[in-house]
Amino acid sequence: MTPKLENLLAENKLDLNLITVRISSRAKRLIYKTSVRKGIEIVIPKNANSERVLEITQNKIPWISNAQKQINDQRHQLTPKHIELKGLGEKWSVNYSIGAKRRIVIDGNSLTLGFDQEDIFYSVIQLQNWFNDKAKESLIPWITSLAEKRKLKFNKVFIKNQVSLWGSCSEKRNINLNRNLLFISPDLVEYVLHHELTHLEHMNHSKQFWTAFSNVLPEYQELRSKIRSVDTEEIPLWAERI
Ligand SMILES: [Zn+2]
Repeated sequence: MTPKLENLLAENKLDLNLITVRISSRAKRLIYKTSVRKGIEIVIPKNANSERVLEITQNKIPWISNAQKQINDQRHQLTPKHIELKGLGEKWSVNYSIGAKRRIVIDGNSLTLGFDQEDIFYSVIQLQNWFNDKAKESLIPWITSLAEKRKLKFNKVFIKNQVSLWGSCSEKRNINLNRNLLFISPDLVEYVLHHELTHLEHMNHSKQFWTAFSNVLPEYQELRSKIRSVDTEEIPLWAERI
């Protein structure tokens, strides 16, 4: 970052720790990017005129200031104090203990995570690992028991961190389940589990599929509209790919 650019940002009370500057030989114009992980990134084309960069950045100050607020707010959401896993009917409280290399401590329904002041993503990675284990420990036995009741056999179940898909079933009879299922109500989780199990009988969404599905879950239409109306906002930011 040139001293002039640094001055401009500092004069406008922007947090320099949240801003990085990258000189790029490929960029054709000035680019301002924002992400929870990297903060604000200003990409400057290699041969850009520095006065012009200052001028454009000056006009961009309100945007940068706003982006900075959003990043701080989002980063705050990465250290939740309470977690609700609706699918399992569980409520957890989360505490943070300063010191890197601390292991997660689980006591009843309370978690204690290590908190590293040098690395704000340290706690959320532990939290995600815990959540992933939780999803494996609960969803795999859940779908296994439903499959046994229906006398269906799958090959393997994989727990994934997906954005838009709750579950899927492959030709090889492998079932993928989204770990975020733990955030929705148990009836909707069962809807997804039964849906994927029904694919073991009918690979497509043919009429036969829906007939078989309605025999297992007569209220499937109601559940389907309920699950379609689940807002992705209900998935907390800490559970997303950071
Ligand atoms: Zn399907």
